[in-house]
Amino acid sequence: MDICEKDMCLACYCCENICPVDSITMKLDEYGQIYPYVDENKCIKCNKCKNSCPQNTEPQFRQPLDIYASYSVDKNDRATSASGGMASVFYDKIISEKGVAFGAKFENKLEVNIVPAETKEQLKEFKGSKYVQAAAGSSYKRVKEYLKSNKKVLYVGTPCQIDGLLNFLGKYANNDNLHTVDLICHGTPSIKYLQEYAYSIDKSSDKASFRGADNFVMQLYSGDKQVYSRPSNKDLYFTGFLSSLYYKKACYQCQYAQEKRVSDITIGDFWGLGITKPFSEDAYKVSLALVNTEKGKRFFESCSSKLFVEKRDYAEAKEFNPQLNYPSKKHKDTDVFFEQYKNVGFLEAVKATSIPQEIKEAVKQAKIDKIKYYKKRIFEKVFKKGE
Ligand SMILES: Cc1cc2nc3c(=O)[nH]c(=O)nc-3n(C[C@H](O)[C@H](O)[C@H](O)COP(=O)(O)OP(=O)(O)OC[C@H]3O[C@@H](n4cnc5c(N)ncnc54)[C@H](O)[C@@H]3O)c2cc1C
Repeated sequence: MDICEKDMCLACYCCENICPVDSITMKLDEYGQIYPYVDENKCIKCNKCKNSCPQNTEPQFRQPLDIYASYSVDKNDRATSASGGMASVFYDKIISEKGVAFGAKFENKLEVNIVPAETKEQLKEFKGSKYVQAAAGSSYKRVKEYLKSNKKVLYVGTPCQIDGLLNFLGKYANNDNLHTVDLICHGTPSIKYLQEYAYSIDKSSDKASFRGADNFVMQLYSGDKQVYSRPSNKDLYFTGFLSSLYYKKACYQCQYAQEKRVSDITIGDFWGLGITKPFSEDAYKVSLALVNTEKGKRFFESCSSKLFVEKRDYAEAKEFNPQLNYPSKKHKDTDVFFEQYKNVGFLEAVKATSIPQEIKEAVKQAKIDKIKYYKKRIFEKVFKKGE
C-alpha cells in the first residue's frame, strides 16, 4: 500500500509516528532512498497514515510578519554554527526555561537523527548543517508526550519535517508550549549516500561536518580524530550536494520552497544582504529570520537580548535565496545518477555524471583567479612605488 505517491514521499516519518499498531517501517529502496513500508498483516486500515501525510493535506502556510537580518551576539556560537548561530540562541532559551530542544545530530555509525536535548551540553551536537535527510524517528511522538506533561518544546527541522510534526500533533499543534523553527532548505540526500561516500574514504568514519567552524569544508571524523578534510568545491559529495544532483526525489517538487512558511520562525542564510540596500555590518555569517506567527513573535522577542537584529525587506531576502521562490531544479545528470546508483552504488554513480569534470573546471578557475589576484596586487605595489 502506498501512503502517498512514491516519488512525492517526504520521508518525514509522520505516518510511522501516527500508526496505532506500528505497522509502518522506513526502509531504503534500490535507489538508496527512504520510504515507508506498510506491513499488511499488521495494518488495521484506519487510514490515519494517509489522512495525516503532508502530501495528502493542505499545509497551513503563513505570510511572514517580520523579516530580519540577525545573528547571535555570542561570537563563539556564531563562529561554530553554519550561519548566524540563531538556532543556538533559540535552543538556549528553551533549555533555560526547563524545556526540551529537538535537533539533528550524528549518532552511531554516520546516522543523523532528530533527538531531544534537555541540557546545554547536549546542544553542541545540533550545531552545523548536516547535508543529508535527518531521520525524524519517533521524535514526533516524544514531542507530544512532552507537551502533554506541560513542558516547553522547541523543534528545529526542514519545512517538511515541521509540517509532518504539525500534522501528527493534530490539536496539540496549537499548544502554546510548542515552538517550531524551519530551515530554508534546498533539498536533502539520503543518508546512505553519505555513508557510502565516507566509507570509501575511511571505513572508521562516524561523523561529518559541512558548515561550522570551517565553513563549506567537507570533513570526516572517526571519534574525535579528523580523517578527511577538503573544501566543498574540491569534494565529490559536497559538490554533488550543492549542484542538486541527488536529493530526495520529492525535493525537486517541494511545496515548501516558497515565500509562505509553515513554522513559527524560519531561519536561513541571508544571501545577497547589502547588495540592493546598505547593511550596517559585515554580511558574513548573517542569518535571515522570518517571524511567521504571533507565537513566533513573542518567542523571538524573548531572545532579542542575545541577538543582533536589523529589520529588512522580504523582497531583498527573496531576490537572492532561490528556495524562498521555487524548489531546487534537478542537475542535468540527476536521472543518470539514480539509474547508475541501482547497479554500481554511490561513488561510481557520481563519477558517471559531470560532477568530476565540474570540480576540475572549478579548481582550474580558482587557480586562474588566484594568479589574477596576485598579479593585480603586484601591479598595485609597483604602481604605488612609482608614484
Ligand atoms: C539540508 C539543509 C539545506 C539548507 N539549505 C539552505 C538554503 O538553500 N538556503 C538557506 O538560506 N539556508 C539553508 N539551510 C539553512 C542554513 O544552512 C542554516 O542551517 C540555518 O541558517 C541555521 O543556521 P544557524 O547558524 O542558526 O544554525 P546551526 O547552529 O548551524 O544549527 C543548525 C540547525 O539545523 C538543524 N539541522 C542541521 N542539519 C539538519 C538536517 N539535515 N535536517 C534537519 N535539521 C538539521 C540542527 O538541528 C540545528 O538546529 C539549509 C540547512 C540544511 C540542514
